[in-house]
Amino acid sequence: MQQKCKQNGAKTESRAEAQTPAQSAAKVESRAERRDFTIASFQKDHDRLQPGFYFSTLQKNVCTFDLRFKKPNAGDFLAQAALHSIEHMLATALRGGTYGEHILYFGPMGCRTGFYLLTEGMRVCDALTAVKNAIADALGYAFVPGAQKKECGNYLEHDLRGAKAELSSYLSLLNGLSAEAIEREEARKAEKEKA
Ligand SMILES: [Zn+2]
Repeated sequence: MQQKCKQNGAKTESRAEAQTPAQSAAKVESRAERRDFTIASFQKDHDRLQPGFYFSTLQKNVCTFDLRFKKPNAGDFLAQAALHSIEHMLATALRGGTYGEHILYFGPMGCRTGFYLLTEGMRVCDALTAVKNAIADALGYAFVPGAQKKECGNYLEHDLRGAKAELSSYLSLLNGLSAEAIEREEARKAEKEKA
């Protein structure tokens, strides 16, 4: 049974209302002057990041998870065709799954080490379950969904077998995550919700 997740929309909305467009523009300008272009995902220490499933950011009530398939800068990256197929397969399976209504976006990282999953109203454990279920479904696909010329911007660049191989190893990694590792991400998310 899916439990109702805690929402924190009200708190962040009031903060957004406090700033006028002119104030926001001034803030952007001053950041540009300081050459401060840092965004949350650049602040992660990519030298220490291991493959895994991480809570990344919470903006308004949108929670981003970092599905890290590969260790950054370790020479092993997702092949472009497999990455592309995984995008199609998991986007389909996640939206069609039990938690489909909570899925806002799923897409690849440009560095080809993993994917971003944007959700609303999900605990870390629910998001993890959604991803595991989606991978199990995707592993049963006989073809890549949405990979016809009319449906995709680069329909020849797909690799169903390669995608399944990467998905299988990521599923093994997820199945091996310790309760502590999941708890740690829940705690990081809860911390952001309080802020
Ligand atoms: Zn495509």
